[in-house]
Amino acid sequence: MKVTMIGAGYVGLVSGVCFADFGHDVVCLDKDESKIDALMQGRIPIFEPGLDHLVASNVQSGRLSFTTDLVSAVADSDVIFIAVGTPSRRGDGHADLSYVYAAAREIAVNLKGFTVIVTKSTVPVGTGDEVERIIRETNPDADFAVVSNPEFLREGAAIEDFKRPDRIVIGLADDDARAREVMTEVYRPLYLNQAPLVFTSRRTSELIKYAGNAFLAMKITFINEMADLCEKVDANVQDVARGIGLDGRIGGKFLHAGPGYGGSCFPKDTLALVKTAQDFDSPVRLVETTVAINDNRKRAMGRKVIAAAGGDVRGRKVAVLGLTFKPNTDDMRDSPAITVVQTLQDAGAHVVGYDPEGMENAKKLMDGLDFAKDPYEAATDADVLVIVTEWNEFRALDFRRLKAVMKEPVLVDLRNIYRPDEVAKHGFAYASIGRPS
Ligand code: NAD
Repeated sequence: MKVTMIGAGYVGLVSGVCFADFGHDVVCLDKDESKIDALMQGRIPIFEPGLDHLVASNVQSGRLSFTTDLVSAVADSDVIFIAVGTPSRRGDGHADLSYVYAAAREIAVNLKGFTVIVTKSTVPVGTGDEVERIIRETNPDADFAVVSNPEFLREGAAIEDFKRPDRIVIGLADDDARAREVMTEVYRPLYLNQAPLVFTSRRTSELIKYAGNAFLAMKITFINEMADLCEKVDANVQDVARGIGLDGRIGGKFLHAGPGYGGSCFPKDTLALVKTAQDFDSPVRLVETTVAINDNRKRAMGRKVIAAAGGDVRGRKVAVLGLTFKPNTDDMRDSPAITVVQTLQDAGAHVVGYDPEGMENAKKLMDGLDFAKDPYEAATDADVLVIVTEWNEFRALDFRRLKAVMKEPVLVDLRNIYRPDEVAKHGFAYASIGRPS
């Protein structure tokens, strides 16, 4: 099948490359020329494990190409995926759909023959109806169907998630048989591996994505609150998580207490769901509360660091390890590190950060933050060391070396990657999340 991917970001590029790897002919299109230039020269504009090899082999096989030219890409396509960004709209927190609607208009004028247009971007209920309306208005003669197919991949494990998904949700308007056939054919290579296709109405499919992300955000927030309670009552949140997670009805995933959720999806998607629900006079209060708790938590983590440093960080040096919102990505969008660092800077600290892949993006977002070339350079002369993101290379730090270079041996571990007794053995004062210290 001929597939066009509009938007070659984290989702569009990974999905496009994986579809090519399944044997489809894929064109990845982006209006950002620098991205397409890089891809054409064999450079990957984002960090995602395994993506460079998969891109190279599929380009070589002739199944994957890149372009900024929408006209020819669209005219040749059986399926066009819209995978552009849907960030929070400035001011009110609704999803900003301007990129999706612009893509719909651009597609509409160039359609030839029956084409399925798929919104892979995360979009609020009713967006498919509007995309359909825009295309029909722009090109009344076009023969097309608009389908919802939200993406569930996780950055850092995106290729594996795309190729072996728990489920593929496909939302059709009026149970459109032609669109159903095309979508089944697109995903057929996965289907052989028994990937479960879930067909629903288009509006239901749009809501499934938000409901899923909101539920996961609530689960994280729940265990974070349990962690705070554990600190007050001298209990251990990791044991609580294990004790409840082994119950099959609860499940052990997403029960790691930490500095609060961040990233390019949960913060904006929970907020967008809250706004949609309010618009329909059906508020989702659990999600509203989740958003509020998580917002407060990030600055609270900054205050936790200040407390560990004895209550005052003015004129003192704090080293921060891990800046991205999670390991194995260079994505800095809504990373908790941004707020933690800001809180420390507001209190007068000099903050030095290190991250294995995120520093280029962090430089664009974090004013006044200095950068180090490794954890030990960051820690040199520091009064406190903070682990914000659990990259593998922070899991076995050389404590003797750290103690030798730091001004004070104080470690704040916002991801609970160390055991308190083990850190204490090295002569460090240690604070973590929801565990007796
Ligand atoms: P991104 O910002 O990395 O990529 C979006 C790309 O679209 C950019 O490169 C941009 O230049 C391009 N673009 C915008 N308008 C365009 C147009 N009219 N024509 C061509 N290109 C255009 O975003 P992302 O992280 O890939 O997210 C895309 C969507 O997928 C969002 O709705 C997001 O919520 C959803 N999603 C993301 C993830 C994730 O982990 N990143 C997971 C699931 C779903």
